[in-house]
Amino acid sequence: MILRLIALAILIFFAYRLIRRAADRLLPQAPPDPKAPESQPIVPCKACGTFVPRDEAIIDDDGDQFCSEQCRDRLRQ
Ligand SMILES: [Zn+2]
Repeated sequence: MILRLIALAILIFFAYRLIRRAADRLLPQAPPDPKAPESQPIVPCKACGTFVPRDEAIIDDDGDQFCSEQCRDRLRQ
């Protein structure tokens, strides 16, 4: 009895796989998801709150991030 159940489970498994494969073939190929641009961390400027890519942020000696040197200087004053 248990063997029958296992055989049935395997059968269902293969049937499911076959159906999935057939469905994939029948359905129009979905265009591949456009890769998200290199996810670059965005950091807020500590002085004005503008979000800037981390690569372009000005980081001062304390590790604070700013959108520009002006903002950095503004906070230092
Ligand atoms: Zn700023």
